[in-house]
Amino acid sequence: MIDKKLLALLVCPACQGEVQVKNNKIVCIQCLRSYPIVDGIPVLLVDQAEH
Ligand SMILES: [Zn+2]
Repeated sequence: MIDKKLLALLVCPACQGEVQVKNNKIVCIQCLRSYPIVDGIPVLLVDQAEH
């Protein structure tokens, strides 16, 4: 699982919005893009995002 302190530091690379973990993905609460978590590491790349 993702460390909550780490998560608090993360922002969406597309809109700088807050993110949360949902279904083992990082989901932006602002633009709703979702980013994969690979081996416990969030991959916050716009070109990896699912809309
Ligand atoms: Zn966003």
